[in-house]
Amino acid sequence: MKYAGFILLAVLAIIVVLLLVAVINAIRIKAKPAPGKATLDFTKEEEKMYAEKLSRMVKIPTISMRGNTDLTEFYKLHKVIEEDFPLVHKHLEKTEIQGNLLYKWVGKDSSRAFLLMGHQDVVPAEETDWKYDPFSGEIADGAVHGRGAMDCKCTVLAELSAVEELLSENFVPECDVYLAFSANEEIFGGGADLIIDHLEKNNVNLLSVLDEGGTIMEKAFPGVACDTAAIGIVEKGNCNIKITAKGAGGHSSTPPKNTPIARLSAFVNEVETKKPFKKYMDVPVKQMFSSVAAYASFPMRLVLGNVWLFKPILVALLPSLSSFGEAFLSTTCAFTMCGGSTAPNVIPDEAYVICNIRPSTHQDADASIAVLEKIAEKYDLKVEPMNRRSASKVTDPEGEAFSYLKQCINEVRPDVCVTPYYMAGATDSRFYERVTDNCLRFCPVKMNPQQLAAMHAANENISTDNVAAGVKFYKYYIRNHK
Ligand SMILES: [Zn+2]
Repeated sequence: MKYAGFILLAVLAIIVVLLLVAVINAIRIKAKPAPGKATLDFTKEEEKMYAEKLSRMVKIPTISMRGNTDLTEFYKLHKVIEEDFPLVHKHLEKTEIQGNLLYKWVGKDSSRAFLLMGHQDVVPAEETDWKYDPFSGEIADGAVHGRGAMDCKCTVLAELSAVEELLSENFVPECDVYLAFSANEEIFGGGADLIIDHLEKNNVNLLSVLDEGGTIMEKAFPGVACDTAAIGIVEKGNCNIKITAKGAGGHSSTPPKNTPIARLSAFVNEVETKKPFKKYMDVPVKQMFSSVAAYASFPMRLVLGNVWLFKPILVALLPSLSSFGEAFLSTTCAFTMCGGSTAPNVIPDEAYVICNIRPSTHQDADASIAVLEKIAEKYDLKVEPMNRRSASKVTDPEGEAFSYLKQCINEVRPDVCVTPYYMAGATDSRFYERVTDNCLRFCPVKMNPQQLAAMHAANENISTDNVAAGVKFYKYYIRNHK
């Protein structure tokens, strides 16, 4: 008894000491920021001009659809780009490969180069509740509206405008600068691969690639008052998987047991409720939390600044608190399509569901698919992966490329906190691992929750002052790059 009391006391003492260390740690984390003011100046005329140029791009429905190889709309977009950016076309070397665009700007030292990316294509706009026609490029309520305004024509516009302005000032970059705009990013069409083949053929190795990805987000983390500039340093994998059930079909008046749809439903239910993938906090997620800690209120700083202590609690609780929490800590699975019989009174002898999984950094595509196969076996289902893609490599947030981008954001946007970001979404930049160690996924525009929700949905738009701020950011980034 005495011995048990002693153990209890010792455990309590250890807990108190650990908590004390955590509190001291949290106090020692230098709280940031001293909210400064963004220093990206632009005139009203410039803001209007960028918005009008973006509007012209949005008007062209460069919709990507599998199986469609017609590039007519893309060539129309190229023509608009040519008209709106005459200096880019006078001074840069342009290569067009099946609708994909690559521009090369020769700098003072051609042994080094970096690349800015974007994509020309957009997803369809089939939603019915658009306030403005999705391909009107309407400029209203202080924003440019339409499919692609945010994803990702504003990036293409901002990068081209930055180069155009620097050329008009006779600026010559320190090293070579490439601009690359693929034509089929939204359907994983491999346009980026064609560009990279071209770069490899010309022995180009890139210091960094800056692509879309994270943005400046309002209220991105609970307990963090300032806006967050999230730089994606890794992106999760992406696989589509078809799961098929076969069985005896027949008339619905005398239904047999375990019909294909019943077995598929049981499978879907088990995956949805049991969340069978491994939960683990990988290094990039830890890095993200600890960098956010400095900007957080004290209770959040106590937790996020002491991941070494609170990790088990975070891993256990986060997935049930938010879908982002789950995406940060494990492979996710979303059921997206299904099919069975074509009549309401016919039991199909074959039915299917399709799911999209995003493999985490600690459970690759094969291992994640194996989890589903094991569950499918119980219900006698066939699992057919349509593709297998694991998570990308991780860009070092202590490395030169990340540090330079962070420094630029800190200098021109001292009002936001900067953090490495673990991305659940996919971009084209992962292809560039072939020619660089530093894929950075960040678009320097601010998005409010409505704009974030409107990506790939109705009422996509971007504020005109954000477009202008984006142009000035890329200009700063290119001008000061060593
Ligand atoms: Zn995009």
